[in-house]
Amino acid sequence: MIHINTVPQKMSLTPTVNHSDRDLMAQPLRPSGEIHVIVGPMFAGKTTALLRRIKSEGTNGRNIAMIKSSKDTRYAVNSVVTHDGTKYPCWALPDLLSFKQKFGEEAYEKLDVIGIDEAQFFDDLYEFCCKAADTDGKTVIVAGLDGDYLRRNFGPVLDIVPLADTITKLTARCEVCGKKAHFTFRKTKETKTELIGGADMYMPVCRQHYVNGQMVIKH
Ligand SMILES: [Zn+2]
Repeated sequence: MIHINTVPQKMSLTPTVNHSDRDLMAQPLRPSGEIHVIVGPMFAGKTTALLRRIKSEGTNGRNIAMIKSSKDTRYAVNSVVTHDGTKYPCWALPDLLSFKQKFGEEAYEKLDVIGIDEAQFFDDLYEFCCKAADTDGKTVIVAGLDGDYLRRNFGPVLDIVPLADTITKLTARCEVCGKKAHFTFRKTKETKTELIGGADMYMPVCRQHYVNGQMVIKH
């Protein structure tokens, strides 16, 4: 959770043009939406956390839809599947901005909650979240990798942090020592950023074992 302190009003003797409180308090056309972001390394349970939230929204009677990237076909094309095998139906799309048209304008209007899995693969994530929450009043729950296997910013996930209501960083268990794991270690020598794989190619590691592992790969 991020807390931002309110900045005290600047004192000024010259009158400045301000939006009046009444302008700012004007009722929006529809209730405003929310954006919640779930990040962390691979195997941290991001998809599980996303599904849990989506399902609980669904049982509260809200209309929900799940979207995942069509790039990731590891488990199934039209369902989100967690590493432990839980399945949920979803839309597998190459981009997000085409969702409204594919889902149907009328059906989209009735949607309350949109879940996005593997968000690092969507280049239009910022634009989509902005529109969905600010203009269309949707609650958007986003799960994705914050960093790649070299701990660099991965795709657009961190770009939406300034838009978000809440950020949750999950941890996995280090595969070497069992301590909390914050990073994803790539076991192969492949160096392209997007290399889709599971436990055969990646493992979650703590800081110490991340650093040790990178040194072993270098030599
Ligand atoms: Zn470790």
